Amino acid sequence: MRTPSAAEPLVELLDIRKHYGKNGFGSGREEKAVRAVDGVTLQIRPGETLGLVGESGCGKSTVGQIAAQLLEPTDGSIHYRHTPIGREARQTLRRQIQYVFQDPYTSLNPRHTIGQILEQPLAINRLGGSSKERKQLVLEMLEKIGLEPRYADSYAHQLSGGQRQRVGIARALMLNPSFIVLDEPVSALDVSVQAQILNLLKELQEELSLTYLFISHDLKVVHYMSDRVAVMYLGRIVELADVEQLYEQPLHPYTQALVSAIPQGFRKEKQQRIVLQGELPSSSERLTGCPFRTRCAHAFERCAAEAPKLSAFAEDHYVSCHLYS
Ligand code: SF4
Repeated sequence: MRTPSAAEPLVELLDIRKHYGKNGFGSGREEKAVRAVDGVTLQIRPGETLGLVGESGCGKSTVGQIAAQLLEPTDGSIHYRHTPIGREARQTLRRQIQYVFQDPYTSLNPRHTIGQILEQPLAINRLGGSSKERKQLVLEMLEKIGLEPRYADSYAHQLSGGQRQRVGIARALMLNPSFIVLDEPVSALDVSVQAQILNLLKELQEELSLTYLFISHDLKVVHYMSDRVAVMYLGRIVELADVEQLYEQPLHPYTQALVSAIPQGFRKEKQQRIVLQGELPSSSERLTGCPFRTRCAHAFERCAAEAPKLSAFAEDHYVSCHLYS
């Protein structure tokens, strides 16, 4: 069993914001700014899997893309091993930080063989020695991710969904990274294939000392994979805790609703299902106070006047709600 270090974060996101439109990067027309991410601070510890959950549209994929250097934040900073990531460091760090997409099919070049796709990152970065040596590294990688060497000559459309996701993972590993953002890596797969891919990710993490940011809307899968879990709502972190603590004692009314919706047999027998009323508000709406107040059964006067801050409730358990402050 891995014991993630609590001391030094590998990756830190500090007060990250990503706004589109009037106040962010965009056309500058008189539209309202969309606040996809609105002040997210996260520390990701070496060797751990940090789960990131929330409804679709809450900003979790945007956080993942910013953490993986695929997207520039509007504001805030990212640190890798305590060093701020500037423009110069970005190129070097691209090797250390990789991203696995939900559906690798769209990102696998249909005209290239799997062997060519896996060799490409090495060739671009002038790594892996001669062409013959690089091809040998590709074959070794195929074996590592559970595909026979013959798949090096196949094309993406000849593979199943599970095999394609193995290739997506292999491509992320070719440059020997330390941190991988996994964005809904199994949500497009059948349940039996999901388990194989999740187990593969766990084995690789153990073998290669990888750190994961695991993004998903599926709380069962997140529970299986994660050491700690952060819950996002409308571009903000509303709760962050050790995985068992979060599922046993969810504090934020939104987390309580998410956990209560996990199918019977997983959650506690007596736990009542909490059905949230209303839709996730648009991230272009400028809500005062707590962003969850329009759907919260516990909202009181203070919730409309003042936005709660993410504060420590117990050791390694943080929540953003006036009920606890
Ligand atoms: Fe509900 Fe108020 Fe807590 Fe927000 S701060 S989650 S509205 S009780």
